[in-house]
Amino acid sequence: MSTRRRLAAGNWKMNGTGADLAVATALAGRHPAPGCDILLCPPATLLSRMSQALEGSAIATGGQDCHAADSGAHTGDISAPMLRDAGAAYVIVGHSERRADHGESDAAVRAKAEAAMRHGLCAVVCLGETLAQREAGRTLEVIGTQLAGSVPDGADGDSLVVAYEPVWAIGTGKVPTLEQIGEVHDFIRARLEERFGAAAGGAVRLLYGGSVKPGNAAGIFAVSNVDGALVGGASLKAEDFSPIIEALEAAG
Ligand code: PEP
Repeated sequence: MSTRRRLAAGNWKMNGTGADLAVATALAGRHPAPGCDILLCPPATLLSRMSQALEGSAIATGGQDCHAADSGAHTGDISAPMLRDAGAAYVIVGHSERRADHGESDAAVRAKAEAAMRHGLCAVVCLGETLAQREAGRTLEVIGTQLAGSVPDGADGDSLVVAYEPVWAIGTGKVPTLEQIGEVHDFIRARLEERFGAAAGGAVRLLYGGSVKPGNAAGIFAVSNVDGALVGGASLKAEDFSPIIEALEAAG
C-alpha cells in the first residue's frame, strides 16, 4: 500500500461568493477527521475568508493560479506570498483553462510552480492532452513534454502534486477508461522517479481530474497511481463533493 496521503481537491474556478462559504463549512462539519487530505481552491476573492472560516478544520485552502514574481507592476495578478498571506497552503498552476485562455506555456507554468515552492506552497501542476492529441496517439508524448517543462527541479512530495486532466474530459461528462487513466498515471510516476529518484518521485501525489462525480469516483480511485482527484463542478456542492471524499477514504 502506498504511503502517499490521498488528496481530494476542489477547484471552484470562477464560481462562488460569500454565501458559498457555507459549502466549505458544511464540508468541514461532515469531515472533521478525514482519512485523506481535503483541499478547496476558491476564487481569489474568497480565499482569505474561506481560510478563516476553515481555521481549525481538516480542510486546506489553495489559490487557482499565481504570478511567477513576488510583487510588482502586474495589474490583476496575485503572487505566491499573497496567497500564503491569505491562508493558502496550495496553488493550482497550469490548469488547461489558464493554458488556453491566457496562453500559458510550460515555461510560464514552471516559473509559477517555482514561485509557489519558494514560498512554501505546494504546487498542483496540471497536465493534459486535447482530444485531437489523444486521437493522434500522442497522449504520452504530450504529457511527457508538459511534465518535463512545467515541473521545477528539486520537487518532492511536499512541494508538488501533479494533476492529470485530459482537456476533453474537463466539464464535459466524458471520462477516459480506467485503463487510459492508469496508463498515464503509471507513465507520470515513472518519469518523476527517473527525474527525482524513487523516494522523492515516489512521494508526489498524482490526481486525476475531469468529470469526477460521486458515481465514478470509486472506480477511478482504485486505479494504480491515482492518489486522489482534482474536482471542478462536483466540488461546488457539499452533497456532491462529500461522497467523492468518502470514496477516496474508502480506497484506503
Ligand atoms: C477541473 O476544473 O479541474 C475539472 C476537473 O473540472 P470538472 O470536474 O468539472 O470536469
